[in-house]
Amino acid sequence: MSNCLLKNGRLLDPAQGLDMRGDLRMRGGRIAEIAPSLTPEAGETVIDCADCWIAPGLVDIHVHLREPGQSHKETLQTGGAAAVAGGFTSICCMPNTDPPLDSPTLVREILARAERESPCKVYVVAALTQGMRGEVPCDYHALKHAGAVACSDDAFPVQSAEVMRRAMRGCAAYGLPVVTHCEDKTLSEGASMHAGAVSARLGLKGAPASAETVHIARNALLAGETGCHLHIQHLSTAFGVALVRFFKAQGTRITAEVSPHHLLLTDAACAEFDTDAKMNPPLRTEADRIALAEGVQQGVIDCIATDHAPHAPFEKAQPFPVAPFGIVGLETALGCVLLWNSQLPDPLTPLQIVNLMSTAPARLMGLPAGTLEIGAPADVVVIDPRLRWNVDPCTLRSKSKNTPFKGWELLGKARYTFVDGALVYPAS
Ligand SMILES: [Zn+2]
Ligand SMILES: [Zn+2]
Repeated sequence: MSNCLLKNGRLLDPAQGLDMRGDLRMRGGRIAEIAPSLTPEAGETVIDCADCWIAPGLVDIHVHLREPGQSHKETLQTGGAAAVAGGFTSICCMPNTDPPLDSPTLVREILARAERESPCKVYVVAALTQGMRGEVPCDYHALKHAGAVACSDDAFPVQSAEVMRRAMRGCAAYGLPVVTHCEDKTLSEGASMHAGAVSARLGLKGAPASAETVHIARNALLAGETGCHLHIQHLSTAFGVALVRFFKAQGTRITAEVSPHHLLLTDAACAEFDTDAKMNPPLRTEADRIALAEGVQQGVIDCIATDHAPHAPFEKAQPFPVAPFGIVGLETALGCVLLWNSQLPDPLTPLQIVNLMSTAPARLMGLPAGTLEIGAPADVVVIDPRLRWNVDPCTLRSKSKNTPFKGWELLGKARYTFVDGALVYPAS
């Protein structure tokens, strides 16, 4: 493994509260040295990082890699390539594959394959119930032993409160976070977007905000009783932010993520029936969008996650009500977040941004990532925070191109991504 010296960057490590100009040396796959100035050694690759951030590789705890079973949408290889192009070095993949990742054998298989096929590190969020049918909890001891970092039925949220309570008890016993997509299906049945003025005008069935908030409240109450760590996925509503704030204040072990698209877009993006603006939870109102920003700024929302959900063009080409939910996000996340931040009246600091996209999500899932500490794995990203670039779906590494940000000018991009000290983006 070649050793590398990154020079003249802005070193950012939320884990150590580090924000300084200087150099970083990677040796033998680990962070070896950090100092205001380091002298190049023989045989070392030197990269000038002037005007760039040097940060721990980004961490995305909500990614759909689609394997096994749906490799026409994405693969471990293409998803991993998209991740490192977006500056991510560790990602957590979701279990709603075909078959779902509900057994230790499948978890081990994905971990072993990802090790060979993906340029970034992959961790598995296993299913919460068998077959993701919301009826019978999985064998959490076996899943944990196989390497699962958390459990979730994401796209198929458990509808029975009784089953959820049992699942939470089981996960709490083995220290597995319960990761939930909060959706009461009796309120969202048949919906393809948010229920509001736009859906009424388009004549589309919408899901009310309560479809999300009813389940946030239910899950938080159950988490309080069972003592599990509850992580709320892709928070999308103002009331949802208020509920997370409330339950945190009660001492409930609750954390939450928000997706870049919910920070930047509203249901107005659906006005032309663009199926690339169809996702679940749906894009909401401007008031929700503003509440989410406040939630991030006030620390109610712990981290940013993409909910990268690739779908093939022929699938997204269907009429709006029947096209599948979801958008790709790995390659646009950083540019979206920095663009969003630049529009805030009181923007977050670079250290806060890196925390939201690396250190906090790594901690929350217990991953060995998100820091530049000496001796840590050299998972590092060099970011140009001022680079303006246009999103051309054709150039995405992801196998799927379903992004509502097509044609947008985003702000900031990964210049170099290293995993265990090896340059994985740009590919050599
Ligand atoms: Zn979801
Ligand atoms: Zn998801």
